[in-house]
Amino acid sequence: MRDQGIEQNDIAEADLRTRRGVFRAVAFRDPVDGHEHMALVRGAVRGREDVLVRTHSECMTGDIFAATRCECGDQLGAALDAIVREGAGVLVYLRGHEGRGIGLVAKVRTHILQDDQGLDTVDSATVIGLPVDVRDYGPAARVLRYLDVRSVRLMSNNPAKVSALESYGVEVAARVPLLVPVSDDNVRYLTAKRDRLGHDLPQLDPLDPLDSLGGTTVGEVRR
Ligand SMILES: [Zn+2]
Repeated sequence: MRDQGIEQNDIAEADLRTRRGVFRAVAFRDPVDGHEHMALVRGAVRGREDVLVRTHSECMTGDIFAATRCECGDQLGAALDAIVREGAGVLVYLRGHEGRGIGLVAKVRTHILQDDQGLDTVDSATVIGLPVDVRDYGPAARVLRYLDVRSVRLMSNNPAKVSALESYGVEVAARVPLLVPVSDDNVRYLTAKRDRLGHDLPQLDPLDPLDSLGGTTVGEVRR
């Protein structure tokens, strides 16, 4: 593990007024991956424990164009809403994470295979020789250290993301589910995430009372 900090030259912050109110927008260039990422900070987080945090992997199609084949855009909105409700928290928007790190062109290639051959999100990558997940959470760990966040309650359905952050020295006090409603468009994607990538997605179970919830963070799992 490289314990490299973010250089002062590579970071700039200013208030960002949004529809959800004002956040502190902390833009930084990561010293290891070279990408420019952003942390949106709400309220007091410096020196705090149990800070509500989302590390969000960029998804141009879902986040910007509101595509419904994945749940990224809904999760981004739900995470920001949760941070606003809490009154404090951090959303780290991670670049270079398109298609779990394979890039935008490759991601759209996997969409062709999903549409034409019915392959799922995992097989549509491996069949063209691409890795299933090469995302690096080092930049998130480095900016959380810069922000002096002592421990986090991580909004994620992915237990592997908890381990990945912990491997970079982030103390994860709890994992907070970030569940969005199932639709005809995203059900195959969500099912593959549950069955093949180990995500915890109880809203796919029709008997589960969470079925009717949209964008919720109930059911925190303390660690
Ligand atoms: Zn997406």
